[in-house]
Amino acid sequence: MKLVTVLDPQTHKTTLGRLDSDNTIRDLTGVVEQNTMLGVIDAWDDVASALEAADGLPVVSEPRLCAPIPLPRNLYAVGKNYHDHVREFGRSGYDSPDLSTDIPAVPVIFSKVPASATGPYDAIDPHLDITAELDYEAELAVIIGPGGRGIPREAAMDHVWGYTIINDVTARDQQHDHQQWLIGKSLDTFAPMGPYAVTADEVGDPTRLEVSATVNGELRQKAPVADLIFDIPELISTLSAGITLRSGDIIATGTPAGVGIGFTPPRFLETGDVVECAISGLGSLRNTVSHPA
Ligand code: MG
Repeated sequence: MKLVTVLDPQTHKTTLGRLDSDNTIRDLTGVVEQNTMLGVIDAWDDVASALEAADGLPVVSEPRLCAPIPLPRNLYAVGKNYHDHVREFGRSGYDSPDLSTDIPAVPVIFSKVPASATGPYDAIDPHLDITAELDYEAELAVIIGPGGRGIPREAAMDHVWGYTIINDVTARDQQHDHQQWLIGKSLDTFAPMGPYAVTADEVGDPTRLEVSATVNGELRQKAPVADLIFDIPELISTLSAGITLRSGDIIATGTPAGVGIGFTPPRFLETGDVVECAISGLGSLRNTVSHPA
């Protein structure tokens, strides 16, 4: 099942929708008590069959999509998790505090402020007053279903509710200068997400998926999820070893080679650029760099 969060521009309220195979979005209001993505993920075992079976629902005309989870509970992210990207990042001189092209021994995990989430077709604010080095990172994002602590590798996939796409937008100068990545990764609009959330049963084996990104139509990134250095079970087991994962938590799994700082000289985003991040079966994000309206 593919679920979306739709914004009503009149009321500024959101509703839950289902993207059907005829490519229309149907309004799920009233099908179950919960009418938010977090609400249905929390209650998934009780609501899934009703959401799937509901028919005769009104079609949402001209839907405006928000991030599937407009304000995530936690937005974890993973640095340096594809071999070629580790090398380009190390070479770029932007790695901080340690400049290294070595493959990490354990996952490099950081956090993006949840309010950095924005819609799949919304503007990316260039924040020209504080950064001149805007960069993109297409990533597969895992959405946690049943939470837990101390989840072993073997049980990790039972805790995956579904998947979506995140562009882990980064201000490289802020990332480098502050040494800790939170600010450079968390400016407003720095986590375009969506366009929909796909349940794990529909995706099947996530290592079959392919991540790609284009800028103004030029292919910049392309790699299979199978190339992850630390795979999804490893990330879940590492994070949950001492942190209780909660349903609806999101883990952006890392980006492949081909980001702006991977080029010599670097190719940073500029106002007017259009960034598209796609994953097979999960659709694509399309965001223009511009001051949000
Ligand atoms: Mg990233």
